[in-house]
Amino acid sequence: MGFFDAFKLSRLKEGLAKTRENLFGKISRLVKGRTKIDEEFLEELEQILISADVGVPTTLKIVEAISARAKKERYTSEQELDAMLRDEIQKLMRDAREVTVVDFDAQLPKKPYVIMIVGVNGVGKTTSIGKMAHNYKSAGKKVLIAAADTFRAAATEQLEIWAERAGVPIVSQGQGVDPSAVVFDAVSSAIAKDVDVVLVDTAGRLHNKTHLMEELAKIKRVMKKKLPDAPNEVLLVLDGSTGQNALNQAKEFTKAVDVTGLILTKLDGTAKGGVVIAISNELNIPVKYIGVGEKIDDLQLFNRQKFVEALFE
Ligand code: GDP
Ligand code: GDP
Ligand code: MG
Repeated sequence: MGFFDAFKLSRLKEGLAKTRENLFGKISRLVKGRTKIDEEFLEELEQILISADVGVPTTLKIVEAISARAKKERYTSEQELDAMLRDEIQKLMRDAREVTVVDFDAQLPKKPYVIMIVGVNGVGKTTSIGKMAHNYKSAGKKVLIAAADTFRAAATEQLEIWAERAGVPIVSQGQGVDPSAVVFDAVSSAIAKDVDVVLVDTAGRLHNKTHLMEELAKIKRVMKKKLPDAPNEVLLVLDGSTGQNALNQAKEFTKAVDVTGLILTKLDGTAKGGVVIAISNELNIPVKYIGVGEKIDDLQLFNRQKFVEALFE
């Protein structure tokens, strides 16, 4: 296990405090003193999960799994029931490590490795880029940020502040220019300067705005002129505090754009973190990172085991 494992379970627990109380606080009260799993237990469990934004399809899977296991295993203690729940929830979640490089200190398969960040306005794209830049840099990688959100005046400025905080260079051409021109520049510079990771910030866009989707396609086309494999990843950022809306947004967005991974932000300060379980179960795309605060070290690798652990303790 790498150096980022220090990735502070305590910080994760702190960040997930509200969800933990909402979801697992209620579950532990439900489990307390139980000696058998009956209909009433399963119904209450179902209600708790749905009310914590786990969503109907994923909730039903969890309840069915518990019901099936109870028939086979005849649990005998509170602890065993608790362990069974953790186990079933964790099993439903997709493991990002099976499909992609997750750890910041792991070797990347290509150089430069281009990661494009997409999503609607205000979900935390720029902030997540700042945090990722910091993590990659701390892990000894050479990072370059591309300021391809050229739509809003303040966008470049905000990204420059993050680049400075992280101590990494940024390529920008200011507001109003064609974002694909910025990306072309950034990728050329990354090749010339032997950069490991290029992080591409993009303007907020909705999946149903055809011209904005075309703009994304153009950015990709243009970077491919320099690097045929790029982008190596397209990460969709979702605001976790919007609960089930984040899941719906992900479903729509991923129909319009090839997304390789997800970043779920703002899990601190929300009780709707149960949506992570739904997203990780219902989508074919893995959750890679989660945001648990506004500061530079508030991005965590998503690890389903640690996530469940943080929620249950
Ligand atoms: P963008 O429009 O997608 O680029 O979003 P920004 O990166 O500008 O972020 C929008 C707001 O969300 C800012 O106020 C960020 O500080 C805040 N934000 C981003 N990630 C997190 C997070 O994980 N937790 C919290 N609490 N706030 C976040
Ligand atoms: P409409 O919403 O499609 O009618 O376009 P607007 O009148 O809102 O915006 C004019 C142009 O600005 C559009 O053609 C887009 O190229 C651009 N634009 C508008 N909103 C956004 C946005 O949220 N993100 C980005 N990247 N571009 C936008
Ligand atoms: Mg932004």
